[in-house]
Amino acid sequence: SFQSEFGYTALPMRVRFGIDVLSQLQSHVAELGTERAIVVCTPEQRTLAESILAQLGDRGAGIFDRAEMHVPVDVADAALQFALDRGADGCVVVGGGSSVGLGKAIALRHQIPIIAIPTTYAGSEMTPVWGLTRDGHKQTGTSPSVLPALVLYDPGLTTTLPAGLSAASAMNAMAHAVEALYAPDASPIISLMAEEGIRAFAEALTRVVADPENIDHRTRALYGAWLCGASLGATTMSLHHKLCHAIGGSLNLPHAQTHAIVLPYSLAYNESSAPAAKAAVQRALRVDTSAAVALWELAQKLPIPHALEQIGMDGSDIDLVVEQALKNPYANPREVTEEGLRSLLQDALVGRRPT
Ligand code: NAD
Repeated sequence: SFQSEFGYTALPMRVRFGIDVLSQLQSHVAELGTERAIVVCTPEQRTLAESILAQLGDRGAGIFDRAEMHVPVDVADAALQFALDRGADGCVVVGGGSSVGLGKAIALRHQIPIIAIPTTYAGSEMTPVWGLTRDGHKQTGTSPSVLPALVLYDPGLTTTLPAGLSAASAMNAMAHAVEALYAPDASPIISLMAEEGIRAFAEALTRVVADPENIDHRTRALYGAWLCGASLGATTMSLHHKLCHAIGGSLNLPHAQTHAIVLPYSLAYNESSAPAAKAAVQRALRVDTSAAVALWELAQKLPIPHALEQIGMDGSDIDLVVEQALKNPYANPREVTEEGLRSLLQDALVGRRPT
């Protein structure tokens, strides 16, 4: 159906996609006017960061390798100090949402451009959203200064992402697209991107899992990740993201896996109240039955946990999560009620087929 009223603001960023895109890293960095770039990564991705530092040549200014999930404030402080000490005028982030998140925390307080080189499907590189965790509480915000100036997508960097993590990360990405389709600020251009992002993953995902080193499947999946990330960056998220934030924040459960488990249930909750979004997901998944059940069936084929109890949630945690998720009101296609949330969480807790 045609959306007859909408607004759309394009985000100012440059994207380069393809195998070997990194071979031109130095000239891309020079184009931005950056003369001293630090490289930010997790400890596990230090070797990759070293090869990127080597590509930067005399424009490289060192590696900060302490990125971790949810950007603890002490790590952000240390990273900022590192950037100042090295006289950095740019920051190359390589890795998943944790590395990108740390780069954003630097850019938030020391306005230097970010060059993002994503190696998961999380999508943070396409958004102006930052997060910082202080005393166990994650604060988030939006600022144009944390939006990467340049994103380099090289599918070759994703072949090392293990099958399980690839699948969970892809479901995390698809969740951005699903919620973009029924967002209060949805628009036709973003809906096209979101649908195509889900389609790309639906086609690539089981193949990526079966053959993680196959570059064609990885290319298709990373293309999907770009589209899903762009959908996230352009819209306001609803029930699914609020719920995962509440679960992740209060119980400290792994980010991508939590999204992967919850997505079929949050879509089951919303799909009858968001018919255009439902139809788009159905087209992308090539089904004419429930889009939520189709996503759940896709998830069953993937090497990921399928129930929240498998990743450490307990039935007694439901009260706390419901309380957190109801704290601040937000737009959602269907009214979010305590009773509705409880039933959604009970299903997700044990991984029951969504109804
Ligand atoms: P992650 O960045 O924590 O990465 C998970 C693990 O995979 C890490 O140990 C990392 O070193 C490793 N890894 C990454 N790429 C790899 C590769 N190609 N090969 C082998 N190992 C690899 O996980 P994530 O799911 O990408 O990001 C999650 C974080 O991102 C959360 O903190 C979440 O809140 C945040 N996030 C933020 C936004 C936003 O818009 N601000 C969007 C999505 C996610």
